[in-house]
Amino acid sequence: MHEVIIIGAGPAGLNAALILGRCQRDVLVLDSGKPRNAASRALHGFLTRDGAPPMDLRKWGRDEIARYPSVKFRDLPVTGVERSDGGFELKLSDNSTERARLLLLATGRVDVVPEVAGFTEFYGRGVYHCPYCDGWEHRDQPLVVYGRNDSAASLALGLLTWSRDVTVCADSRPDWNAERQVELERNGIAVVENQVRAAEGHERLQRLTFADRDALACSAVFFCSDCLQRSTLPERLGCEFDDDGNVRCQQMAATNVPGLFVAGNVRGGIHLAIMAAAEGAEAGIAMNEALLDAELAAANSPAAT
Ligand SMILES: Cc1cc2nc3c(=O)[nH]c(=O)nc-3n(C[C@H](O)[C@H](O)[C@H](O)COP(=O)(O)OP(=O)(O)OC[C@H]3O[C@@H](n4cnc5c(N)ncnc54)[C@H](O)[C@@H]3O)c2cc1C
Repeated sequence: MHEVIIIGAGPAGLNAALILGRCQRDVLVLDSGKPRNAASRALHGFLTRDGAPPMDLRKWGRDEIARYPSVKFRDLPVTGVERSDGGFELKLSDNSTERARLLLLATGRVDVVPEVAGFTEFYGRGVYHCPYCDGWEHRDQPLVVYGRNDSAASLALGLLTWSRDVTVCADSRPDWNAERQVELERNGIAVVENQVRAAEGHERLQRLTFADRDALACSAVFFCSDCLQRSTLPERLGCEFDDDGNVRCQQMAATNVPGLFVAGNVRGGIHLAIMAAAEGAEAGIAMNEALLDAELAAANSPAAT
């Protein structure tokens, strides 16, 4: 029985492991190797690591954690989980089981890339969902927002931070209201209602083509669409969710399920890697304190004297 199992070795899970390792806790980290930003070439906005290849951050994290001998790793997907007496029992893809008193889900999210030819190919290097992650690299260049709802209009206005040349490609008649349309026009944002056929370019994104109009030159396309929970484990464990599909988090990374904690994109809030890492640190502290409280309570119980 480990003291803690962490599922997910992204920034959230790794930072929790670092804190818990420094608390000399017996920790097992399990990971299936599917980071949210796998398609991205560079991680931005992470102080001291701005521009680093995303997988390097994970490698550096593991290298640092190797200094703490009480933390172990297994690179395997968790396929099943059950609450058991005094903790959790996990089933791994090789049919082995692992048990722990406390469990941290740092399983992340996955983005639904719109089904347009070329979008998946250019995802992370010309097609994006987050301007805070990738806007600066395309500053002062022609930008496109793909989408037809109010969130797309709002994203287009937000992109004015990086460029005054912003177009919304809506595939058909957009469904925002007249007031929003006026706001877009006032800010010089054109709306194309023709259906987008494909994102094209040689080595880098260069244009969008349409069913029935000339191509539009652009250096980046941003879209807003769903980002889903990477794992069904939160649901299977009985976690509560908010309306946006985020696991509801109580004080200090705790969930409604006793002994179960969450950190990173599995929760709501700002989905930047540095936020995920900070939430991992918070969860690490919360879990150490939960273990310590239980130890102190046991030491102070009449049975112990
Ligand atoms: C294209 C793109 C570009 C981005 N660029 C940036 C950027 O520049 N800057 C920035 O701050 N953020 C960026 N992000 C967001 C960033 O990827 C996330 O904020 C960050 O990865 C969240 O960390 P996490 O630890 O919560 O989840 P993740 O990094 O997604 O890690 C979750 C881990 O859990 C594992 N896992 C899931 N289920 C299981 C299971 N059942 N068993 C075992 N393991 C499991 C996964 O394999 C994965 O390794 C970008 C995202 C995308 C999609």
